[in-house]
Amino acid sequence: MIYKGLLRNVVIMLTLFLNVNIGLASELDCNHPTTPTEELFCDNNRKSDEEKNEQIFFAIVAFTAIGWVWNKFFRRRCPECKSTKYSIISKKELDRYRQAKEVTERTSNGKTKTRHIQVTYVINKYDFICDNCGKPWSEEVREEK
Ligand SMILES: [Zn+2]
Repeated sequence: MIYKGLLRNVVIMLTLFLNVNIGLASELDCNHPTTPTEELFCDNNRKSDEEKNEQIFFAIVAFTAIGWVWNKFFRRRCPECKSTKYSIISKKELDRYRQAKEVTERTSNGKTKTRHIQVTYVINKYDFICDNCGKPWSEEVREEK
């Protein structure tokens, strides 16, 4: 789903942002970072204050831009009155299948490698009702299990 990629970037930016504020990196053993997030913390800790400030600035700009785009183009709205307030009445599974998905990982020596994993996808049909005008509508959504 398109949200997944956006979400990942938001999480990375948030960790950068939090790290700069809390200074968590000082508690980590940066010679042996064990997770991508720790690696991110450590990389960030080696930067100067100026670079960090720049990073915060870009994080805020990017965060705002992503939020705006999501709100404007991707957020689910009532087809009638465009309200974003709605309730889910029901959810029904229409289909389920397994498919290969490409994932890119960073290894400990800094290289990237691509591998294929099997993912189960479920097609769900959602029935919504608008909380504002009462219009009912349905959408089919593909979800990763
Ligand atoms: Zn409505």
